[in-house]
Amino acid sequence: MPQATDWADVRVVGIPRALLFYRFGVLWTTFFEGIGRTVVVSDATDKAIADEGERLSVDECCLASKVFIGHVASLVGRCDAVFVPSYPTGDHRAGFCTKFQSATDMVKSTFRDQHLRVVSCEVRDARKMKDVRRPFEEMAARMGVSPRDGRRAFKAAWDAQEAHDKALSDAQVRLMRALDERRAAARGAAGGAGAASADAAPLGILVVAHPYITHDPYLSGAVVDALSDMGATVVHADAVDHDKAYKKSFEFSDTMPWLINRELIGAILMLEDHIDGIVLISAFPCGPDSMTDDAIMRCIQGTPILNLMIDAQSGTAGVETRVESFVDILRFQQKGGYVRG
Ligand code: SF4
Repeated sequence: MPQATDWADVRVVGIPRALLFYRFGVLWTTFFEGIGRTVVVSDATDKAIADEGERLSVDECCLASKVFIGHVASLVGRCDAVFVPSYPTGDHRAGFCTKFQSATDMVKSTFRDQHLRVVSCEVRDARKMKDVRRPFEEMAARMGVSPRDGRRAFKAAWDAQEAHDKALSDAQVRLMRALDERRAAARGAAGGAGAASADAAPLGILVVAHPYITHDPYLSGAVVDALSDMGATVVHADAVDHDKAYKKSFEFSDTMPWLINRELIGAILMLEDHIDGIVLISAFPCGPDSMTDDAIMRCIQGTPILNLMIDAQSGTAGVETRVESFVDILRFQQKGGYVRG
């Protein structure tokens, strides 16, 4: 049977700057550009986008998915179709939250009155190249692209995403090395002066959150800015080598089903000896985080943890104060804390 080419007239593809765009956005944009499409990525999240997402979503949705819907709304009229892939769970130890499985249907249903066109594909295991390649090549075929060009575009897109991820994790390794060196230098300069050395000692804080939370300035910029303003070095858990973090996470749990939560927990285990504190940031009401954050708080011993929840109503209001108090406590602890042994 000949392949349908019902998306061949889609020349401009809109991509919402939300959810898994922050994880696979390089692959997506490179792929569509590789098959000759123009890509329009929605603008950075702002209040208008967040409010529109809130208005269009049911109350039970998490803040991140409401913001995603706001981004889709902002693309209406700016593209021929919006790209909304589905990521159902193919591997029960490397799956995604149900929002990612239902995203395509959620968008079609929410925007049915506007007759918004949606191009989509179903990726069953995001870690395996062949599981990603097949649906992308099928999508290219529906867009009227030859199998050869579809294959070539996918290869370039996969390589670009890998190069992007590697650049991030390499930068993270350099950052951690510099942090360790500054710490050693501060200890050396103090010459064992104890409390006096703490003033000069750097503070490394690991921010643990889904990438669409931690790298969206509207959602958690206030937290990251407050940490930086207090002189802390911000280390992002999601920037750690994904494969290494994923494998490491099995030391924490053999059964945890969510890929990104696994990678975040693996990153904590890889970096906990090199950082002074952890800031967990969750979007209300995140199902996976409600379980994993609780497990992290119980099981990660010896590293202070600040657990922050952001929601549509209060956003990041008040978080600066909590972050400042947390950093103050860490600095006080560096100086010897309440108990001197
Ligand atoms: S993992 Fe949590 S924050 Fe992300 S989409 Fe699912 S419920 Fe929302």
